[in-house]
Amino acid sequence: FDPVHIVGGGLAGSEAAWQLARAGVPVILHEMRGPHGTDAHHTDALAELVCSNSFRSDDATANAVGVLHEEMRRLGSLIMRSGDEARVPAGSALAVDRDVFSGKVTQALEEEPLVEIRRERIERLPGEDDGRWIFATGPLTATPLAENICTLTGEDQLAFFDAIAPIVHHESIDLETAWYQSRWDKGDGKDYINCPMDRDQYEAFIDALIEGEKTVFREWEENTPYFDGCMPIEVMAERGRDTLRFGPMKPVGLTNPATGKRAWAVVQLRQDNALGTLWNIVGFQTKLKYGEQTRIFRTIPGLEKAEFARLGGLHRNTFIRSPSLLDESLRLKLRPNIRFAGQITGCEGYIESAAVGLMAGRFTGEEAMGDAPRLPPRTTAHGALLAHITGDAEAETFQPMNVNFGLFPPLDYPHKKKERKAGYAARALADMGEWEGLRAAAE
Ligand code: FAD
Repeated sequence: FDPVHIVGGGLAGSEAAWQLARAGVPVILHEMRGPHGTDAHHTDALAELVCSNSFRSDDATANAVGVLHEEMRRLGSLIMRSGDEARVPAGSALAVDRDVFSGKVTQALEEEPLVEIRRERIERLPGEDDGRWIFATGPLTATPLAENICTLTGEDQLAFFDAIAPIVHHESIDLETAWYQSRWDKGDGKDYINCPMDRDQYEAFIDALIEGEKTVFREWEENTPYFDGCMPIEVMAERGRDTLRFGPMKPVGLTNPATGKRAWAVVQLRQDNALGTLWNIVGFQTKLKYGEQTRIFRTIPGLEKAEFARLGGLHRNTFIRSPSLLDESLRLKLRPNIRFAGQITGCEGYIESAAVGLMAGRFTGEEAMGDAPRLPPRTTAHGALLAHITGDAEAETFQPMNVNFGLFPPLDYPHKKKERKAGYAARALADMGEWEGLRAAAE
């Protein structure tokens, strides 16, 4: 076979490369980190996690992303295998030690004889006769390539903000004030550290967030909407004084052992590495200036002496208008030798990006073998995500989307509302099993 070129060794590109190699198709993986960087990546490792260390819920019985996890495991995903191997405690979520995780992905691809990794930046889309390509350059796609995509597609790229939450050294947390507990006592009790606030402390904290000095926007970044689910805390505070108390600082399901009562508000920290030495402040992505972050976050009870391994930040996000640009198997309609994968297609999240990479890798592998791409059933999490990106979503108002049961076709049998999620999950896994069985039989 001629090698398939993959541009971008992130979550999607790494998974696509793995799937192609498993199908016996050689791959050249072009990754620019090394000679070039991005605003959010800190290392040269493949599949680096740029923000949270969580792959979110691992519940495959009633949660859409949990179903996606399980489907990916069944499809031989490298990202899920490495995630499972790098797991750290996080209740019913799958959280990972980020260095162990990306180290395992990098090692697997470096040791794979069918994968050649080239550290270089690709600046243009290839011509129609230049072989098969997958572009998985992510939300921080290098500018020359982004401009070239715009030139070819004639569509404007949409840029908007994302945000990084700060990470604290465990030894600097005051555990006389803060305490270990998972919400509603799920997990083993050591998964989260909680910092309590009374009403006065909370009100003063909200004032500090609103008044704190923010990073100045560059002209081209103005008036861009925030990435849902990653809104900076100071923006949440500005939207309403109680917004944080009903969001990332909600106190429900947590009892302060010092008082035996629920606090007015709670700041939660979640383990960020396997050693348990680093903990991130959950949901605290921010565009406050570094000095202001240190000053304001040290007013949180239990974090008065916090030492920060990393402070929060803000980053650009890039995605194409997939519903009008891509066909049902992720090919660029204008140039079908090119596929897109990962967050640039308008899915949202590490796992969704990897899942779209998995599909792009498989479809391209099937084409290389002379077969038509075999699309996953619409009732599976993969099928639901793919359908959303490539056609179900409204092209004009298209925005990045996490996988959720709202993307799944309704159940076609009488059921009670409370049985719906379990019904979607069971149907997805059954249909995925059947699809994989048919594929194995065909091979
Ligand atoms: P990436 O993982 O970013 O991989 C793209 C790769 O392409 C990078 O390695 C980059 O260096 C390379 N590249 C770019 N341009 C070129 C080029 N021209 N030539 C060669 N290589 C190139 N998702 C979550 O689930 N949880 C989070 O907490 C979260 N936080 C985020 C925070 C930030 C700041 C950002 C930007 C995104 C965040 N996301 C988060 C969203 C998204 O899921 C991740 O960014 C995810 O890594 C996307 O996977 P990907 O493979 O599409 O892109």
